[in-house]
Order: sequence, then structure tokens, then C-alpha cells
Amino acid sequence: MTKWDLIVIGGGSGGVRAARIAALHGAKVALVEEHRLGGTCVIRGCVPKKLMVYASRFAQELDEAAGFGWSVQGAAFDWPTLKANRDREVARLEDVYRNNLVTAGVTVLDSRATMQSQNSVRLVDGTVLEAENVLIATGSTPDAGPDIEGGELAIDSNGFFELTSLPPRVVVQGAGYIALELACVLRLLGAEVTVVVRGDQILRGFDDELRRHLAQELTQTGIHLRYGRQIASIAKNGTALQVALDNHERLPADCVLRATGRRPNTRGLGLQELGVNLDAAGAVSVDAYSQSSVQCIYAVGDVTNRVNLTPMAIREGHAFADTVFGKLVRTVDHTLVPSAVFTTPEAGTVGLTEEQALRQFPHLDVYRSTFRPMKATLSGHPTKVFLKLLVDRDTDRVLGFHAVGPDTGEMAQLVGITLQLGATKAAFDATLAVHPTAAEELVTMRAPAVQHNL
Ligand code: NDP
Repeated sequence: MTKWDLIVIGGGSGGVRAARIAALHGAKVALVEEHRLGGTCVIRGCVPKKLMVYASRFAQELDEAAGFGWSVQGAAFDWPTLKANRDREVARLEDVYRNNLVTAGVTVLDSRATMQSQNSVRLVDGTVLEAENVLIATGSTPDAGPDIEGGELAIDSNGFFELTSLPPRVVVQGAGYIALELACVLRLLGAEVTVVVRGDQILRGFDDELRRHLAQELTQTGIHLRYGRQIASIAKNGTALQVALDNHERLPADCVLRATGRRPNTRGLGLQELGVNLDAAGAVSVDAYSQSSVQCIYAVGDVTNRVNLTPMAIREGHAFADTVFGKLVRTVDHTLVPSAVFTTPEAGTVGLTEEQALRQFPHLDVYRSTFRPMKATLSGHPTKVFLKLLVDRDTDRVLGFHAVGPDTGEMAQLVGITLQLGATKAAFDATLAVHPTAAEELVTMRAPAVQHNL
């Protein structure tokens, strides 16, 4: 029987990177994927979502065009065209993933795998594969959320990508990345959207000012944010749906989208039976080298519930392969994480939030700029850009960047590099502005809006 150096279970961002790099280091690698190569990010996450975001933003562009002299009457949107083009692009990327694996020498097995022993994996057809090491890279899946009457009538983010037409009235539950991104897509494409938020603000964990600013912007786009509410039940009402909130208010809807978080895909893998420790959320507990409590079983990406972002899964997969097969022992830094929420307007962030910074840095300066973007002066759009830098007064180090507005995701990437280099506010000030841009505000914020002295 073939003995593999590595069997990877899961062909998403983390698994594919780990398999390729391990194979390039000379390891004999098999990757088992039960669905489609590319995982959540490529098949039903980041990539198709961003294509939908682009599609939705044309609606706003068309609205704004009139102020610039354009006449765009008669513009029409066709969901099936978008869906077909999007699905074709996803299929193309899936092929790219497969080719990259094969070119690197990885054997791809289209099957579901479960652990049979610490060093063997069983496929659905009964084949047993022996391996020196196993990497669990099975990702995460939408959590069904609280059990409610009629819950089966709702869709999750996977169901969103299967919609064959734009639902005219949508109720979204949740206020995280997925809920808000998809709410914006639906709203801009023309749906009536109500977002049911259980807490008193969106995007828990983000900078409070960013959260407030983005909430105002979303309200301006016509999204109804219902705070402090839960969905109590969903019922059929003819061909439509009726959502009952926990205050007995009823909302008519054509689609209910629940996005209340994701759970690690460890169910039925047979991990605990082999002594692999899982945490309370069902995630594989790993050390800094992505090694589980069983020496030859590793895990990377969302299944470990560390930082659930594609670039982090890729980093973790790469570091694992370098460490175990490439004699390049290394870990991944999980502390400085640039990220973007692709709402419209989008939010970009990197570093500490004001709330986090204040717990460590008593002399914190907050630089803030809220302004009307140049384009809005002619288009008449009421949006405002929000940019914020947090600076430790004692060292002048920039600790955090938080922004809402066009291209702030792109800004977060670049500001992330400066934070990685330990940039000071003086370095920002010494940098010449690129004029006229929104980002130039980052190098022209002279006086702090707030000076904390704790
Ligand atoms: P999040 O954890 O970001 O958000 C979950 C939301 O659901 C929160 O608003 C939460 O409210 C709410 N919620 C949780 N439980 C309940 C409940 N029982 N009843 C009502 N509401 C509830 O998860 P997502 O699914 O949006 O995203 C999962 C992960 O995917 C993210 O953490 C992110 O890492 C990744 N992702 C990243 C994207 C990007 O980089 N642009 C895009 C999409 C996903 P509360 O705040 O009160 O807890």
C-alpha cells in the first residue's frame, strides 16, 4: 500500500497551499476534497461575493452619473446573466486550483475522507490511505443559528449564491461580515432589506466609531437596521414569507437570509475518537505550529477558528508545509491582521481598535477625518468618508487604522505595511500627499481630535 508523507483533508485556501508547498519540498502528497476545489473562498465566499459587490455598485455609479452629465435611462440589470458569468469564473478558478495542485505533483482525490486511525484516512468508497502526517483543512460552514419555527424556510450564505433571481424583500439576520456584505449587494441591486441585529450595534469587535459611521452609511443606502431584535419565527404566507420578530412585529419577505456565524467543519471526521482535542466551538485546538494534540495530525484555516480569513489560512498552510517538510521552522503572526468588509461603502481596518488600544496605551491620540468625497460634490450622494488613525503619544507609533469609504480595503492593505514596519505618525506626516485622493487625508491629519490621558 502507498504510504503518503501527507494527506490533506480539504481543498480550500489553506489545504491547497499546504499540499502544493509540501509537494514542492519533495513530499508525496494526496489531497482529498469532497466538494469542489477552492473551498469557501473561491466557490461560495470571497470571490463570488466580490463579483456580486462589483455588480451591485454599478447601480450606485449609474445614480451618480447624472451629476457628471451622463444620461443613463434604460439601464437594466439581469440577475441570470450575472449568475452565469460569476459561476463561469468560479469554475475557471476551480480548474486553476486543480492544475496548480497537479503541476506541483499532488494527487487529488475527489471524495470525502474520515480519520480511521492517527495515520490513516478512509474514503467513502472504503479505500484506506496511510500517511505519516494528516492535515485537517476542512474549513467552516454556516451555523444554522438559533433553532426557530420555520427556520428551514431561510437560506444561508451558500443559498445566497444559488438564488436565481433578486428577491424583492429580504430579511437578513446577523450583523457580521457576511450579513452586511450580502445585505448591501441585495439593497443596491434593488431589494428592500431589513437587517435584524441582536445587539445594539453592527460588526462586534470593530472600532466603535467605525461601526457607528458604517451603520449610518448603511441606513442612508436604505437598509433598515433593527437593533436589539431576534427572529422568533418564519412562516409561509402564500408564495411569500412572514417573519415574526421577538417583539411580535411582522415583516413580509421573499427571502430570509441567516448569517449568524460559521462553525468549524469537524463533525463526523472521527478526530476526537483519536485523541485530537477540539475546543468548545468544535475547532481543532492547535499550537503555534498548527499541530494538534496528536503529533502527526495538524490543522490550518477556519477549522482551527483562529483568524478566519483566507490569507491567514494560506499563511498557516504554507508555514506548516515549510516547517514539516522544508526544514524551515516557522510560525504565523496572528496579531496584525488587515481586513476589509465589502459593504458599500466598504470598511478597511488594521491594528488595534480605539477600545483595544486604550487598554494598553494610556496616552492615546486619535486622529480623525470625516469628509465628503470629491465625487459626491457633483453626484450629490450623501456619503461621507471616515478615516481614523490611533497613535501612541509616548512613542509616536501608529497603532491602528480604521476607515469607511471607497477603496478603504485597498488602503488597509497599504497602511498594514506601514504598521508592520512600526511606522510613526511623524513618518506619515513626512510623506507627501497624492492629490487629489481620499487617502491623502492620512498624511495631512495634523491635530488629534481626541487626546486620551488615562
Ligand atoms: P460573524 O461572527 O462575523 O458575525 C456573526 C453575526 O451573527 C454577528 O453579528 C452576531 O451578533 C450574530 N449572531 C451570532 N449568533 C447569533 C444568534 N444566536 N442570534 C442572532 N444573531 C447572532 O460571522 P459571519 O458569519 O458574518 O462571518 C464568519 C467569518 O467569515 C468572519 O468572522 C470573517 O472572519 C469571515 N469573513 C470575512 C470576510 C471578509 O474578510 N470580507 C467576508 C465574510 C466572512 P453579535 O455581534 O451580537 O455576536
